[in-house]
Amino acid sequence: MRKKLIAGNWKMNKTPSEAMELVELLKNKVKDSENDVVFCVPFIDLDIVCDILKETDIHVGAQNMYFEDKGAYTGEISADMIKNVGADYVIIGHSERRAYFAETDETVNLKVKKAIEKELNPIVCVGESLEQKETKIGLDFVRIQVKCAFKDISPEDALKVTIAYEPIWAIGTGRTASNEDAQAFCKAIRDTIAEIYDSSTAENIRILYGGSVKSTNAKGLFAMPDIDGALVGGASLNEDFEKIVNYNK
Ligand code: PEP
Repeated sequence: MRKKLIAGNWKMNKTPSEAMELVELLKNKVKDSENDVVFCVPFIDLDIVCDILKETDIHVGAQNMYFEDKGAYTGEISADMIKNVGADYVIIGHSERRAYFAETDETVNLKVKKAIEKELNPIVCVGESLEQKETKIGLDFVRIQVKCAFKDISPEDALKVTIAYEPIWAIGTGRTASNEDAQAFCKAIRDTIAEIYDSSTAENIRILYGGSVKSTNAKGLFAMPDIDGALVGGASLNEDFEKIVNYNK
C-alpha cells in the first residue's frame, strides 16, 4: 500500500523571515497527518525551515541541486550541502528548470543518480506541453522523459524516487487535468516503470500529480488508483496547503 505524499513547492517565494512565519502557521496543522508531507523551499530558507520542523515528521526538500560533489561551479548547491542542513528531499527536473535553466533529460538523470548516492529522496518531474497535448504526443514524450530519468538506475534505487506528473499547461494556470486524464498519465508512467523494471517496482513507486492542485480538487485526484499525492505550487503558500494535506480528515 503506497502512502500518499503531499509536497509543497514554494518556488522563488518567501524570505527566511517569511518562511518562518508560514511554517509556524502550518506546522501544527499538518504534523499529525497520516500522509507524508514535504516543504520544498528556496535554498536560503532550508536552514530555518529544517530547524523549525526538526521535532516533527514533516520533511524538508530543496527545489534543485547540482550533480557534482563540489568545486568551481559558481552559484550551485550540492547534495551534501542540502543533506547537511537537514533536508532529505530534492525536486529534480521541474518544468520551470527545464524551460528557463537549460535542464535536460541528461542532467536530470545525473542529478537523480547523485541524489540517491547522497541519500536524498528525489522528486522527478515530467510532463507535456500544451502543444504536445494538442498534437497528441504528450504520452510518448512523458514516457521518454521517464526512461531517460531512470537510465542506469537499479530497481532498488528506483524505489527511492518519487515521480511527479506535471502537465506544463496545468502549472500555475488554474487549469487542472481532469481526474481521469491525470490517472491515465500516471498509469502510463507506472506501466513504463514496469517495462523498465518489473511489476513489483511499478506497484511500489510513488507517482504524484501536479498542476493547479487546490483543496477543492485534491480529493478527486487522490481517489484515482495511480495518483499517490501531489506536488503543489501556488496553494502551498497559504492555508489551503493544510486542507490538501488533510484532505481525508
Ligand atoms: C508546481 O510548481 O510544481 C506546481 C504544480 O504549481 P501549481 O500548483 O501552482 O500549478
